[in-house]
Amino acid sequence: MAYSNRHYEELKGAYLFAEVARRSSEYKRANPDKKVISLGIGDVTLPLVPAVIEAMHKATDDMAKKETFYGYGPYEGYDFLLEKIAQQDYKARGVDISTKEIFVSDGAKSDTGNIGDIFGEENTVLIADPAYPVYIDTNVMSGRKVVLVPTKADNGFIPEPPDFASDIIYLCSPNNPTGAVMNKKQLLAWVGYAKKHHAVILFDGAYEAFIQDSSLPHSIYEVEGAKEVAIEFRSFSKTAGFTGIRCGYAVIPKELKLQGKNGEVSANELWFRRQSTKFNGTSYITQRGAEAIYTPEGRAQAMQNIAFYLENVAIIKKGLDACGIEYLAGLSSPYVWFKCPGGLSSWDFFDKLLTVCNVVGTPGEGFGECGKGWFRLTGFNDRSNTIEAIERFKQL
Ligand SMILES: *Cc1c(COP(=O)(O)O)cnc(C)c1O
Repeated sequence: MAYSNRHYEELKGAYLFAEVARRSSEYKRANPDKKVISLGIGDVTLPLVPAVIEAMHKATDDMAKKETFYGYGPYEGYDFLLEKIAQQDYKARGVDISTKEIFVSDGAKSDTGNIGDIFGEENTVLIADPAYPVYIDTNVMSGRKVVLVPTKADNGFIPEPPDFASDIIYLCSPNNPTGAVMNKKQLLAWVGYAKKHHAVILFDGAYEAFIQDSSLPHSIYEVEGAKEVAIEFRSFSKTAGFTGIRCGYAVIPKELKLQGKNGEVSANELWFRRQSTKFNGTSYITQRGAEAIYTPEGRAQAMQNIAFYLENVAIIKKGLDACGIEYLAGLSSPYVWFKCPGGLSSWDFFDKLLTVCNVVGTPGEGFGECGKGWFRLTGFNDRSNTIEAIERFKQL
């Protein structure tokens, strides 16, 4: 008899997106003449930029010739990409990260989920509520105790260190779903907490490229002392439309130590051991595509797409202003997080928006208790649909 992993029985159902899909398709079936617009999209919609396409075509040609063919690559990624990351994502921001501290992967979902492999089951995990569901579910699957840190509107949904100890902390900034961005002082408080409790911060920076305010940190390592306590995750998914291509990276500084059986062990070495056992690298063609984002043309093109999504976000926020609806300020993420008008619950507002305006969004409470009464819209649709959805919204 093969026994199942019993921890899977403790998982809550993948309720949110399944329920959103169920309610919207039911409505569409009953109202086939209505044009339903989704501002609930959590995926990019613009195609890959020309610089990336060109680099990937060229890499494909490399694979066609014996002299330039690539088989298995290095587990941690090719030097050509690691060097660009170290230089442009870190050194250019005054952060010293060596190529030996960077691990290229197939994305931040895998990395934020798989990183649990190097941590013991006895760790207590702290997760800010509301949250990207991957953090909670992957820890439940591993049988770890999860403690939620509530965030509140009056504090801009920024999580604050609690007055009790924990071992692993997930932080996401700019945040999905709220769009909140932590400043250096707020990150410093968490670094201090992690040092005090010998804890590790898992910092998800998937939306780093959306940061507009130059005073806000793009990396947790911009904060003094973070290299001793933090692992950082980045992704080319939202930065450059790689959601279908799959590429991201994790940074694990050499200074970061975990408690082993006979003293301290290096988290960087454990992750290398884990990756070299369970992962055979991101494809050469993909990594050449990612490298192209670090050329001046590639960067400018990718930033243009981000600017387009942010203009959609600005259009949505202007519409909310016109309706007198309260939303979380700041323009550094593709998300608009707002309070459901009229004191409606997230799901009641979802139904109203769907049936009255034929617009689909995402109920905040699907991301956690603290999202109750809040709602998420995204800037990922095209311009005309975004404008039309907001015009309808004003009729509410
Ligand atoms: C989209 C997203 C990611 C990126 O996932 P990939 O696997 O790299 O596509 C990571 N974290 C959060 C919070 C996200 O919303």
